Amino acid sequence: MNAIVKHPKEESAERRWSRFKPIRSGAEYIESLRGRGTTLYLFGEQIEEPADHPIIRPSINALAMTYDLANEDPELATAHSDLIDARVNRFLHIVGSPQDLVMKNRMQRRMGQLTGTCFQRCAGLDTISVLHSITYDIDQKHGTSYHQRYLEFMKHAQANNIIVGAGMTDPKGDRSKRPSEQADPDLFLHITRRTETGIYVKGAKAHMTGGWNSHWIAVMPTMNLGPNDKDYAVVGLVPADAEGITYIYGRQSCDTRAMEAGDIDKGNARFGGQEALVVFDEVFIPNEHVLMDGEYEFAQEMVARFTSYHRASYVCKTGLGDVMVGAAAAIAEYNGADQASHVKDKLVEMTHLNETIYSSAIASSHEAKPLPSGIYMNDGMLANVCKHNVTRFPYEISRLAQDLAGGLMVTLPSEADFKNDVTGPILEKYLKGRNNIPVEHRQRMLRLIENMTLGRNAVGYLTESMHGAGSPQAQRIQILRQMEVERKKGYAENLAGVERGEDRKD
Ligand code: SF4
Ligand code: FE
Repeated sequence: MNAIVKHPKEESAERRWSRFKPIRSGAEYIESLRGRGTTLYLFGEQIEEPADHPIIRPSINALAMTYDLANEDPELATAHSDLIDARVNRFLHIVGSPQDLVMKNRMQRRMGQLTGTCFQRCAGLDTISVLHSITYDIDQKHGTSYHQRYLEFMKHAQANNIIVGAGMTDPKGDRSKRPSEQADPDLFLHITRRTETGIYVKGAKAHMTGGWNSHWIAVMPTMNLGPNDKDYAVVGLVPADAEGITYIYGRQSCDTRAMEAGDIDKGNARFGGQEALVVFDEVFIPNEHVLMDGEYEFAQEMVARFTSYHRASYVCKTGLGDVMVGAAAAIAEYNGADQASHVKDKLVEMTHLNETIYSSAIASSHEAKPLPSGIYMNDGMLANVCKHNVTRFPYEISRLAQDLAGGLMVTLPSEADFKNDVTGPILEKYLKGRNNIPVEHRQRMLRLIENMTLGRNAVGYLTESMHGAGSPQAQRIQILRQMEVERKKGYAENLAGVERGEDRKD
């Protein structure tokens, strides 16, 4: 891609695609982000070239790994697309079978192992799946042509191997009010005007994962909508460098360590996540890239399908859990404590929790059922159980990793002190653990555990586990809706010999 100027308003769909060329590697992906002329703010300043900013780059590296994994392990990270009759990155693959969903989960776990952070590409992948079925369903009811538009978009997306980001969460303002009732109409993204060639949207998408790192952003409703919310019932595909978009980069715990010299105190120097507030100020979307315009009654089902896919995508955290188990086992070994039975038992407990998350996700995928559009959707109950496990178990896994790491994790002097002529030799002498293990190995492993449980990637391993794809209560609501308690009462009453009275019969 060689975009230098921002997209002029009213730019056609064709012209928007003309500036892309197929991306074949992580390095080409990083290059594709440069020179886009976007507007991004970080720490109160506009950043001229975000791709090269030390705080932003680790998040880009994590996404670059999705390209490199596809080259290194095509069986895992690519799939055959019937749409363009070629192998495509699995993050752009339309799920045609339960096995596709299983493979998606396996790839997500692998990506977590390789990056130790949020690699930001799954919300877009799950959006691709949702839009396939929702555009089909809307067309069936309204005689629109959204599905064909979607397929055309996907052909370009797959052939150019681009990243689609998901712009879902509106700022929401007063939670007791619907979008059309808000004092400020922009608190939910909405259509401000329609022209012959397209629509204009205004609003913002909050804590958008990998927003700036995407090539295209799919904006879509965040909740169920009513007849008065028609202008809010919009799905559109927008280039991430379209005119009118501003990114305000979220700051994260310990992010300024990325500005320090050395790579040890960073804990995970290469990889990090990205969350941003993305503001859309009268952004144009040509008709070809509009996939919902006013069909408000589909918003709720769209969100439900998205959450079903995405809550199982949180299997990603099992890859991070694998890193945590490995880090805890390694530091126990460096400390000379690895043979203690309680240490082994804690590692067993961490593994048990991690595999429990994996079980719910992978089972959800195996239980997938077809939708009318022909693609598959994983089991909703098990996906919610997966995500609910994710809101809890990584915290306990982290607690156990901190337990095994010992207090040195938070009292360890800085990398600069290790390099200082006076303090360096003292630290080397007094912070020695097992004799055959260099002190630097202890330092590095402790910083990694710090990074994932307190530092920058605790955002991805812990807080995102809590709130991403819906906060814990959102899963409990879905579990409540789907738990079929009346049917289960019937099983119990049958065995107990309880005859329902007339007043209790359905
Ligand atoms: Fe993917 Fe996990 Fe990040 Fe969501 S939190 S984008 S599922 S890596
Ligand atoms: Fe997320």
